[in-house]
Amino acid sequence: MTELSNARITDYYTESTFNRIRQFAEGKETPFVVIDTATIDYHYNELVEGFPYAQVYYAVKANPAPQVLTLLRDKGANFDIASVYELEKVMALGVTGDRISFGNTIKKAKDVRTFYEKGVRMFATDSEADLRNIAKAAPGSKIYVRILTEGTQTADWPLSRKFGCQQDMAMDLLILARDLGLVPYGVSFHVGSQQREIGAWDSALAKVKVIFERMKEEDGIELKMINMGGGFPANYITRTNELKVYAEEINRFLHEDFGDELPEIIIEPGRSLISNAGVLVSEVVLISRKSSTAMHRWVYTDVGKFSGLIETLDEAIKFPVWTEKVGEGEDCVIAGPTCDSADIMYEDHKYPLPLSLAIGDRMYWFSTGAYTTTYSAVEFNGFPPLKDYYI
Ligand SMILES: *Cc1c(COP(=O)(O)O)cnc(C)c1O
Repeated sequence: MTELSNARITDYYTESTFNRIRQFAEGKETPFVVIDTATIDYHYNELVEGFPYAQVYYAVKANPAPQVLTLLRDKGANFDIASVYELEKVMALGVTGDRISFGNTIKKAKDVRTFYEKGVRMFATDSEADLRNIAKAAPGSKIYVRILTEGTQTADWPLSRKFGCQQDMAMDLLILARDLGLVPYGVSFHVGSQQREIGAWDSALAKVKVIFERMKEEDGIELKMINMGGGFPANYITRTNELKVYAEEINRFLHEDFGDELPEIIIEPGRSLISNAGVLVSEVVLISRKSSTAMHRWVYTDVGKFSGLIETLDEAIKFPVWTEKVGEGEDCVIAGPTCDSADIMYEDHKYPLPLSLAIGDRMYWFSTGAYTTTYSAVEFNGFPPLKDYYI
C-alpha cells in the first residue's frame, strides 16, 4: 500500500467549494491564488460562535485585499493594523478610527501621530521609548502592553522574542503610561501563529492575571482588557484541534483565572480566518532526477519562496498539495522557479506526488489564503508578484 499521493480534497474543502475554485481557475495563467470569500464568512461566524464575548480585531497583514477587508468590515470586525499603509487601506473603505488598534510595537513617532489624527486611540507597546512617543503623539490614548509568552516550540510560525516584554517591565510600563497621562488599559500577548498547543493560552493568561492583580493591589490601576492575539489554527498537513476545541479550552482558562466577570476580551485572528479560503494554483515547470539511480524526483514549479510561499522557510508550514493525476506516488523534493537555491519549499519532508505527474500539470496548494500575497516579492528574477482573485 503506497501513501496517498495527493492531499484529500475533502479534508480541506467541501466538494462544492473546491469545484467552484477549480472552475474559476481554469484557463488562467499560473501562478495565482483564488480566495473564496464565502469560506472567510464561514470562519468568521465560527470564530464569533466560539468567542461570543470577544471583540474581533482582524490582523490585516494576513491578507489586506479590499474584498477581504470589505467583507469583515460589513460583518462588524475591528482591525489590528501594523503600519500607516495598512491604515490607509482600511480607512479608504470607510472604517473609522474607533475600530482600529495600532498593534505594532515598533513604530515611528510620526506614524503614531498619523494614527492619532485619524482617530485611533488604542496602541500596543512593549518599551519605554515607544510609550513616551505615544504619550507625546497620541495623548490620552489607551495603552496595552504586550508580554512575552512561551510556546515557540509548538507554534509553526512563532512570533515571540521580537515582540513583548517581561512581566515586570510590563507593569512598569503600565504605571508609566498612567504617569504620562495615558490610559493603562490592558495586556496583550500572541502565543505564536498556528499554535498547536492550546495550553499556550493558559500560561499566557496566568501571567496576565498576575499583572491584573498586582496592578490593582499595588498601584490602584484597574486594567480593563486582555488582548489574546492570534495563533488560532488553519488546516494544513500537520493536524490541529478544531477551532471549537480551542474556544472551549480558552473559555475555561479565562473563567478559571478571571471568574464570571471577564474583562473586555480581544482576539486578533489572521490565519484562522483566511487560510482555508485560498487555493494557490501553480504549474510544473520541470521534473528531474539528480542521477540515474536517484530515489526521488525534483519537481520545480512556477511558484516558490519568493512568490508567496515564504512560510515554507524551514518547512514550517506544510501546505497540502493536490494534483489532477492519480495513482502511485513517489517522494519528491518541491522547489520554486528562481535562481536562488534557498527557493526550495520541501526537501526534508518529501511529498509523495503521483509518478504520472508531468511537466505542464497543475499543482493546487491548499490553505494558502493567508500570508501568501503579502509575502510575495515584487520582481525577484523578474517574476511578478503572486496574482490573486476573489470569488
Ligand atoms: C500577525 C498577528 C496576528 C495574527 O496572527 P495569526 O496567527 O495569523 O492569527 C495577531 N496579532 C498580532 C499582533 C500579529 O502581529
